[in-house]
Amino acid sequence: MKKRVLITGAAGFLGSHLCDKFIAEDYHVIAMDNLITGDLKNIEHLFKLEAFEFYHHDITKFVHVPGKIDYILHFASPASPIDYLKIPIQTLKVGSLGTHNLLGLAKEKNARILIASTSEVYGDPLVHPQTEEYFGNVNTIGPRGVYDEAKRFQESITMAYHRFHGLETRIARIFNTYGPRMRLNDGRVIPAFIGQSLRGEDLTVFGDGMQTRSFCYVDDEVEGLYRLLLSDYPLPVNIGNPEEITILDFAKEIIKLTGTEQKIIFKPLPQDDPMQREPDISKAKKILGWEPKVSREEGMKKTFEYFKNLSKEELFKSEH
Ligand code: NAD
Ligand code: UDP
Repeated sequence: MKKRVLITGAAGFLGSHLCDKFIAEDYHVIAMDNLITGDLKNIEHLFKLEAFEFYHHDITKFVHVPGKIDYILHFASPASPIDYLKIPIQTLKVGSLGTHNLLGLAKEKNARILIASTSEVYGDPLVHPQTEEYFGNVNTIGPRGVYDEAKRFQESITMAYHRFHGLETRIARIFNTYGPRMRLNDGRVIPAFIGQSLRGEDLTVFGDGMQTRSFCYVDDEVEGLYRLLLSDYPLPVNIGNPEEITILDFAKEIIKLTGTEQKIIFKPLPQDDPMQREPDISKAKKILGWEPKVSREEGMKKTFEYFKNLSKEELFKSEH
């Protein structure tokens, strides 16, 4: 009998790739999503499979799933700054009430649960690169606080279930991940720059572009998450690609990659935008035997191919 895995946020970017991974590894996948930022298009290719089922459900409401569950991957949450600034209360609720519901379900089913935490728990970090031991520098009441604090609470309640109820828990601190199925207009820098290139618009760099990020290709990320789930390590683990780049240099790379002649224009830096971000992945290397394999050049080529093939209608659809 196949192992059964519940994936929340399954119609989103990471969730849909996780569905593919677990189907490929011969699991029965129970996907759950309320489609607030996701899209059924990302998982429609799985609908015909017997090993796949989909629940359209808001996980901030009581979650019931019949039958046994071996593993839960809790990925439901808006993830792009534009999304969580637009729906701040839902973001707080899905990280808090939603996580509580999923932990309760894991306890009932005696399932192991992995939660999707984030590099945002480090806020605008004063330690570089970020190790799991760093407690972070988050502005609780700033606009991004709704996401960062929801994720920090998510980690705390997960550890409480682990310590108090003996629940098997895993915490992945995910750093900026990219690849096919990101939403073109979700405001994150990679779809933003690629969309601007394809539409012939100028690339909008926020601030002076000296802030850094470290981008991980989705296949690498999914492999790291998979290994973490199957490991026996309950404390947080950074899963990301340590290759750091400034946003300005990244904009220049995109111009080269797309072969277009876009100008770079500068816009104000959003409040509390972290100035630097790079994961220290020593722990993932040691505990999971994992490190990223896909270079930014290769990953960006694949990602660009995906966006190039979107219809004109999708390319020019505005969400904001
Ligand atoms: P996404 O927006 O593409 O996917 C999130 C999914 O969750 C969407 O399909 C959305 O509809 C669903 N969802 C949101 N609220 C829900 C609710 N109340 N009930 C049911 N479903 C709900 O985002 P993503 O990039 O795939 O991120 C997935 C997870 O990974 C999030 O928890 C995010 O915080 C975390 N994460 C992502 C990154 C990244 O770089 N992509 C980095 C750090 C952490
Ligand atoms: N960014 C930018 N132009 C854009 C979108 C984003 O310069 O059109 C910057 C943003 O200010 C941040 C970085 O790119 O410094 C990464 O932003 P993203 O929203 O992708 O992720 P996060 O800030 O959550 O790491």
